Amino acid sequence: MMKYDFIIAGAGCAGLSLLYKILQEPTLQEKSILIIDKDTKNSNDRTWCFWEKNAGSFESIVHAKWNTLEFLSTGFEKKLDLGTYTYKMIQGIDFYNFVINFAKQFTNVTFLQENIVAITSDAILATVKTEDNLYAAKTVFNSTNLFNPEITEENSLLQHFKGWVIKSKKPIFDFEIGRLMDFRVSQENGATFMYVFPTSTTEALVEYTLFSSTVLNKETYDSALKKYIKEELKIDDYTISHEEFGIIPMSLAKFQKNPKKNVLNIGTSGGYTKASSGYTFQFIQKDVSEIVEKLKLGKNLNSDISFKDKRYNWYDRTLIDVLLSKKRTGKEIFAQIFKDNSPEKIFAFLGNESTIIEDVSIMKSLPIKPFLISGLRQLRSKN
Ligand SMILES: Cc1cc2nc3c(=O)[nH]c(=O)nc-3n(C[C@H](O)[C@H](O)[C@H](O)COP(=O)(O)OP(=O)(O)OC[C@H]3O[C@@H](n4cnc5c(N)ncnc54)[C@H](O)[C@@H]3O)c2cc1C
Repeated sequence: MMKYDFIIAGAGCAGLSLLYKILQEPTLQEKSILIIDKDTKNSNDRTWCFWEKNAGSFESIVHAKWNTLEFLSTGFEKKLDLGTYTYKMIQGIDFYNFVINFAKQFTNVTFLQENIVAITSDAILATVKTEDNLYAAKTVFNSTNLFNPEITEENSLLQHFKGWVIKSKKPIFDFEIGRLMDFRVSQENGATFMYVFPTSTTEALVEYTLFSSTVLNKETYDSALKKYIKEELKIDDYTISHEEFGIIPMSLAKFQKNPKKNVLNIGTSGGYTKASSGYTFQFIQKDVSEIVEKLKLGKNLNSDISFKDKRYNWYDRTLIDVLLSKKRTGKEIFAQIFKDNSPEKIFAFLGNESTIIEDVSIMKSLPIKPFLISGLRQLRSKN
């Protein structure tokens, strides 16, 4: 059986982000690393949007960025000046190519395309079993869904979305303004909004997003996108250059950080998808930075969950609880938050970077009763 210092199970956002960080750290970059994925990672299967204050690790592949966004709902529109934050977009394929090409210069890194069927461990080693082989390492970083909790209609909402990159014949977009959420669309299938991120005057990513318990049939996403492009964006003549579809769990279920000794879950599997929004990219970056710092210092990777993490986790769970119990609609809640608070404060809150005083001021803009009931229920929950 081949033995490594680290095995990274899953070469998606989290696996490759961790690999990149390890290889940038002089004290770790010579470790033997095996990275396994069942796929080739050569398709542009997703687009990541996120916000940050400074240049991040992947600045050189940022495809587009915005300092102004807009929020729209029925009878309410607001331009959002992001202040010190910048909203950024990275294309999946650029990210995969960037990290994989960077890693190629390290002979101590091995990429394998195999399907992982089990991960086990004993006191010293963790073992990854694929359909054909066994591999062992001191530590396995897992982003496959092998240890994920069961997602049910009772414990989760699904964030499901379909996006098109469209190219219009005529210049139509103001590429300095990204449309973060447009709730003026039908809400019959749950909290539903469109977003529009223009990358030039003739090109934009238009995405139809819903928070609900079940996905829709394929035609419903397509017809909603067509209707919005025609009626709201007023574009008749366009081509579709890229399509993406995704389902992200917005869940009250507990994602484990350490499913087994010497095994650490990362990415969505480690609970780094923010339950109330589905944003994950930036939380993955923070997590892998912390992991690399601990590896460098020889610290225990299985640290306790901080008070700050527990605090945000409770906020997220409370919002999911309110939405699941249908006490308030997503449209009402988001409009209220954007009406009453400064964009910078909201983005700090959504990025888990706000102070408790700022959190209180955001909470004050929400209706007390449903949030109090859901908040108390989640405090008592054993999950
Ligand atoms: C279409 C789409 C758009 C998104 N947009 C955003 C966004 O704008 N902003 C944001 O913050 N988040 C976004 N997300 C959410 C989140 O950032 C992504 O899902 C992100 O890719 C999660 O990273 P991950 O490493 O946990 O999972 P993935 O990137 O999915 O990586 C997991 C990897 O594990 C591999 N794998 C799984 N099972 C096995 C197995 N048994 N054996 C071998 N390999 C296996 C998969 O092939 C995959 O490569 C989006 C998600 C999707 C699907």
